[in-house]
Amino acid sequence: MVNIEAKKSLGQNFLKDEKILKIIASSFPTSDNDLIIEIGPGQGALTKYFIQMPGSLICYEIDERMKDILVHFKSERSSIIFDDFLNRDISKDIVDDFENIYVIANIPYYITTPIIEHLLFSGITINGMTLLVQSEVADRFIASPKSRDYGYFTVLLNHFFEMQKLVDVPPSAFSPSPKVFSTVVKFVRKKNIVSLDLDSFQVFLKRAFQYKRKTLRNNIGASSILDEFLESKNYSKSIRAEELSYDDFVELFNKLA
Ligand code: SAM
Repeated sequence: MVNIEAKKSLGQNFLKDEKILKIIASSFPTSDNDLIIEIGPGQGALTKYFIQMPGSLICYEIDERMKDILVHFKSERSSIIFDDFLNRDISKDIVDDFENIYVIANIPYYITTPIIEHLLFSGITINGMTLLVQSEVADRFIASPKSRDYGYFTVLLNHFFEMQKLVDVPPSAFSPSPKVFSTVVKFVRKKNIVSLDLDSFQVFLKRAFQYKRKTLRNNIGASSILDEFLESKNYSKSIRAEELSYDDFVELFNKLA
């Protein structure tokens, strides 16, 4: 690792544990027709593994100080885009057709949710993701209904993916060490994704979870359709959003649509 001073404001905690880097990089075996998207390659800790794997690579890095390092990873199959990932139209950056698209990255924690939302709403089909995130956030991703961590984002992610924790990562695995523990989460695209209007579903979920202490009824508004749904499931009228499963949300959303 060369001596570039880490910028806290960009979430720069560079992963130095090669064992964990290898677990992340090899989480999806790729073939020639696959694409890996890496957000925040930094000094190329993961990128150096990706360029040895079959397939193509697109990296997004906001910090131009990394140019001298990352330029070595450029090739016919790999490109490095120096820009804010959140400002990119990913569907335009991907010019070829790929069999599978995987997002594999140690992402900056300060924009974890915006990065994933940007990916989910980009219009591209993501077959899998492996992300290193803050452990608390990983708990929210894979939370079960009725638990403290279950929320809007849990349900949205459940729409697309089966999720599993691969490994916990202590602060000492990074330089500089973050204050929090981290976890590698693997997301595998579901075989049969329910067809629905994603934008409206997101709005619906956000409303349902808007005020945690309020009932579902108060959050989304009372209606005979809601009452019928609750009755058919033997749910109380004062049920809260966090008690509903992903399947419940899809069913209710379709009934209300
Ligand atoms: N992948 C490297 C590693 O594992 O050591 C670096 C990970 S570091 C946690 C996050 C990286 O994301 C940094 O290189 C940072 O500059 C970059 N970054 C931060 N905000 C970004 C953004 N909006 N778009 C693209 N890259 C960003």
